[in-house]
Amino acid sequence: MSSSPWSTSWSTPPLAGGPGGADALRPLVGTVLAALRDGATARGGPLPPGGPEDVAARLRAALRDGTTEAGDPGHEVRHDPRHDVLPDTGTGAEEALRTLVTALARGAADPAHPLCAAHLHTPPLALAAAADLAASALNPSMDSWDQAPAASALEQLVTRALAAETHPAGHRPDALVTTGGTESNQLALLLAREHHGPTLQTVCGANAHHSVHRAAWLLGLPEPVTVPAPDGTIDLTALAAVLTDLRGPLLVTATAGTTDTGSIDPLPEIADLCDDHGATLHVDAAYGGPLLFSETRRHLLAGLDRARTVTLDLHKLGWQPVAAGLLAVPDTALLDALRHTAPYLNADDDTRAGLPDLLGRSPRTSRRPDILKIAVTLRALGRTGLGHLVDRVCATAGRLADLVEKDPRLDLHQRPALSTVLFRPTGATDETVAATRRDLLTHGHAVLGRAHADGRLWLKATLLNPHTTPDDLEELLAHTALVEGSTTR
Ligand SMILES: *Cc1c(COP(=O)(O)O)cnc(C)c1O
Repeated sequence: MSSSPWSTSWSTPPLAGGPGGADALRPLVGTVLAALRDGATARGGPLPPGGPEDVAARLRAALRDGTTEAGDPGHEVRHDPRHDVLPDTGTGAEEALRTLVTALARGAADPAHPLCAAHLHTPPLALAAAADLAASALNPSMDSWDQAPAASALEQLVTRALAAETHPAGHRPDALVTTGGTESNQLALLLAREHHGPTLQTVCGANAHHSVHRAAWLLGLPEPVTVPAPDGTIDLTALAAVLTDLRGPLLVTATAGTTDTGSIDPLPEIADLCDDHGATLHVDAAYGGPLLFSETRRHLLAGLDRARTVTLDLHKLGWQPVAAGLLAVPDTALLDALRHTAPYLNADDDTRAGLPDLLGRSPRTSRRPDILKIAVTLRALGRTGLGHLVDRVCATAGRLADLVEKDPRLDLHQRPALSTVLFRPTGATDETVAATRRDLLTHGHAVLGRAHADGRLWLKATLLNPHTTPDDLEELLAHTALVEGSTTR
């Protein structure tokens, strides 16, 4: 016989918010922190060894037994993991948090480890993660003012301040908060389509992020015309030829910090070509945008302010936990196309009576206050602190490039423009390069990415960890050479 929902034998779990929320959270956060530490210690390296099967087996064992040791495989065969995922009787908050957080930390590819450097997968700052806890506890939803009074005011202030960085001479700079570069690029194409109509032709470099092509597909726009980028940046002669040939409304998307090499397209020249041909310019600065905070490097983004839309992604070079994307514009009026009314969220009479209308600030409805961790980071570090972090990882990349250049066993693709370094064992085949990367993953030694450039496959190190030391870089290269030498193929 099931007990009534009002019976005293069933205790309702405490909530995270309200005056009592902090006291309910404190012991649970303690459990989480202990589990994070235990899991990271048990892992010991940048990622768990053994590859996908071992990792999945350890996770199943953790769910089954509440441990992270791989169990008796016979037992596993007879056991239905669905009961571990959704048991009839719950295990309680302490056990569930300890088991799952330990298992996840133990099995993580941890970007805070200096040898985890494959992707634009940032090690989040502790202060940003702490701010995210508050966002979860308060749970403001950014789709209406009555769910997020202060959070919406904060979002307005911070988005305007950040848009003033990309568009200092803009009329009324503003930015939308997005889930990242992908959504920002989608919104850039959407706003351009709403402005120019469905025949809008997108033109991008061969170095553009794949999300530009997907956005065109998603929005029912013509397939983007791709301009060659033989040296990692858009070929200007080819771009001029394409813009001369094409008829109808055009959107050029340039990249400030490509995903593969960190290269920055020549923005002033591209902006000039757009002016000459009446094309609209979008700049995807998902990676390179935070160069704006660096006194010594912001000149690399000259011309960014000439873009009608700019993608920023602070969960890359901004050290935020995902998600922390933005789409900046020089004038808030450019965002009008997103206006939308849902009577329960922004009724006309509520808006007339002065309640801010937030629904048009995203195509999403419920939306996390991702602005809080961003605001905390900007305030805590300031422009100088952020600029130092940017400079630091760029310098780390320069250091790695130096080491590669000095090592006769390795070839360097090019000096890093940002914080990405491509290298490969001298004389290796593409197959060897690919296998070297997988060996490093399987052994849990290092997480490196891969990228094609100059018709060859390279190992890619994306350096986003400001704590990485020269010794870490030596170790990274030693692993690369070691695996290469010890593997028979
Ligand atoms: C990472 C990246 C994106 C996509 O960003 P997400 O946050 O992963 O959606 C877009 N453009 C560039 C240049 C990127 O490096």
